[in-house]
Amino acid sequence: MPFSYAPSSLKNLAKATHVSHRDLARRLGRKNPRDLDTLVHSWHDDLFEKGDCLECGNCCRTLGPRILPRDVGRLADFLGVSTDEVTRQYLRIDKDGDLVFSSMPCPFLEEDNHCSVYDARPRACREYPHMDQKKIHKHLNLALKNRLTCPVVYEIFIRLAQRYPQ
Ligand code: SF4
Ligand code: SF4
Repeated sequence: MPFSYAPSSLKNLAKATHVSHRDLARRLGRKNPRDLDTLVHSWHDDLFEKGDCLECGNCCRTLGPRILPRDVGRLADFLGVSTDEVTRQYLRIDKDGDLVFSSMPCPFLEEDNHCSVYDARPRACREYPHMDQKKIHKHLNLALKNRLTCPVVYEIFIRLAQRYPQ
């Protein structure tokens, strides 16, 4: 099943609600952290169970995950090449000094939104969109940005706004 928000409309929706969701994030910082974790994690699991990332693929098309040295080793083993070859062929250093994919959409994203290195994908890909992290109240600024890309994050903010109106 597709998610409720198409990538094409998500950015505008997220921009239009930025101020109210930013204020909401500040209010949420004063809630009981455990209660907030329980709520957000249950919505995260529910949305990913009902929705299908293969219908979206927006993160793999638009965000460059930060690649760690152990990610390079895992990719090299999976592809059967050296770490130097992975670095040369697929990676670059960005302006912040982080290792990222040299081009986006991701070179491993297939036309049907499958990931061709799924079992060896970088840690940042495995953990995105990070809404199942503990102490989620500490990660709401990042979540605010991720609303622009991920329909699950945007939907969680919509539900939080309904649960905690001003
Ligand atoms: S490695 Fe796979 S999961 Fe990560 S951005 Fe590329 S296609 Fe997406
Ligand atoms: S994690 Fe979010 S942005 Fe990425 S494919 Fe799934 S729903 Fe889309």
